[in-house]
Amino acid sequence: MIVTRFAPSPNGPLHWGHAYSAIIAHDLAREAGGKFLLRIEDIDGPRSRPELADEFRRDLEWLGLEWEEVPAQGTRLASYEAALERLDAMGVLYACTCTRAEIAAAASETGPEGPVYPGTCKHRGVSADAPAALRLDVERALAPTGPLTWTDAIAGEQAVDLSRLGDPVLRRKDLPASYHLAVTLDDAADGVTLVTRGLDLFHASPVHRTLQALLGLPVPQWHHHALLLDEEGRKLAKRRGSPAIADYRMAGEDGLGWADKLRTAQWPCGISLGKAHI
Ligand code: GLU
Repeated sequence: MIVTRFAPSPNGPLHWGHAYSAIIAHDLAREAGGKFLLRIEDIDGPRSRPELADEFRRDLEWLGLEWEEVPAQGTRLASYEAALERLDAMGVLYACTCTRAEIAAAASETGPEGPVYPGTCKHRGVSADAPAALRLDVERALAPTGPLTWTDAIAGEQAVDLSRLGDPVLRRKDLPASYHLAVTLDDAADGVTLVTRGLDLFHASPVHRTLQALLGLPVPQWHHHALLLDEEGRKLAKRRGSPAIADYRMAGEDGLGWADKLRTAQWPCGISLGKAHI
């Protein structure tokens, strides 16, 4: 059975890009007689505004979607901790005390997540009581697994190549897990078989594939869809003024009509669809 999910973070209202993503995940599951899940990704510290989760549910209902809601990330902290302990016992983690500014100064290239971490803390001792993030030592992690691949429904089979990411953070200094760790564990725990999300996270999937190999988790398929873009060709973002769909809902607009427009590639004013491949 196909299980898809929509996993919004409650740190800003949903915009048309979120609506598009949710509709794709919903319809892929529905067409296959599968399940569509909603998971609130609420461990983003002070940026997280739990009251937005109710707004999200109202937005999805307004769009005519039906879902099964699974527990929010905030209830799953013990599973993140347990996975970090297992990875630590495998010797594939190291503590990192670098600040963003130090990383920017030390990096010689920029990848899809910003300056590529050059491994500074891997090669030096870090004091046990300094606040530290935990990073995955990719070289060590991939040594026992051998070459890995992952499959995107649109782009096809991909080799896992983490060279443009640097060693990813799995536990942040200020949070019990990073996005990469939490989403991989949650998708496995929720039985997600088709991870549907925007192309802006295409680069993240090889990290998740690596964690699946290390932790013996089931390997889903991925479906990275094209992004909705604003007038300047940038992906939609609330901080850049992309309209919130809640505004349309509260203005009494027809949500089912809007959902059908998105399904048939009729975009709201000023919005267009980006390219379908990375
Ligand atoms: N919570 C993430 C976001 O709102 C989505 C993560 C995912 O779909 O993997 O961007």
